[in-house]
Amino acid sequence: MAEKIRVTVWSEYILEKEYEHIAAIYPSGIHEAIADIYREEAEFEVRAVTLQMPEQGLSQEILSQTDVLLWYGHMVHEQVEDEIVERIKKRVWEGMGLLLLHSSAQSKVFDRILGTTGEVRWREIGEKERVWVIDRSHPIVQGLPMYFDIPHSEMYGEPFEIPAPEELIFISWFAGGDVLRSGCCYHRGAGKVFYFGPGHEEYPIYYQKEIRQVMKNAVRWAAPGRGVQVSFGKTDALEEVEIFSPR
Ligand code: ZN
Repeated sequence: MAEKIRVTVWSEYILEKEYEHIAAIYPSGIHEAIADIYREEAEFEVRAVTLQMPEQGLSQEILSQTDVLLWYGHMVHEQVEDEIVERIKKRVWEGMGLLLLHSSAQSKVFDRILGTTGEVRWREIGEKERVWVIDRSHPIVQGLPMYFDIPHSEMYGEPFEIPAPEELIFISWFAGGDVLRSGCCYHRGAGKVFYFGPGHEEYPIYYQKEIRQVMKNAVRWAAPGRGVQVSFGKTDALEEVEIFSPR
C-alpha cells in the first residue's frame, strides 16, 4: 500500500468550551470533528492539535511529520506566535499542503502565506448558502454535484481581500443576495494551499456529506508529491561557455 497522507488539524478550541450550543455540535472540539472526516479513510493518518498545547500545538517535530495542515482559527488570531507562523510558512515552501478553513482567512497564517488580509463582508442570520462548482475537472470537486446547499450558514461575501486565485474551485451564493469566491487554490513554493469558506461553528457544517467530500479531496490534492529537488543561488554553467566579461 502507498504511504499514508499525514494530516494535522489545528484549531483554537475556545468557542466550543465557552458556548453550550457550539459544544452540542462539536462536543470534542471542531478539530476532533474535522479529524474524524479523515479517520473514515485508511489512506490518512490524522492528529488533532490546539492552541493550548505546548508550542501552540505545532512543534517543529509535529510540523515536519505533517503532509497537510488544516487551520481553523476564529477568535484569537493574534495569539498565534509569529515563530509558529514562520514555521508553517517554511514548511509550506518545502511542500507541506495547507487548508485554510472559514474564518482562518483573517488569520496571521493566511496573511503571511498569501499576502493579504482576507477581509470579507459577513453576517450571521443562518441563511442558506449554495456552493457552485466552477472548475468541474479539478480533483477537489470529484464526486460532487453541480452545486450543493448548506441549509444554514454564516454569510461571507465579496469583496473578499484575497490574491486572485490561481484556480477558482467554488463560488457561493447566499440567500441574502451575496456571493463569495469560496474555494480558491494557490501554490507557494513547493506547497499547495486551499482556502475553503464554509465551516461556521454554530451549524453542523462539517458533518454534511458534500463538505466531507471536499475536505477529503482537498487534502489528497494538497498532499506533497515526490517533487523535484531544486537549488537556489549562484551556480556554475551547465555547459562549457566562453566567459565574456565586461570587467
Ligand atoms: Zn464563522
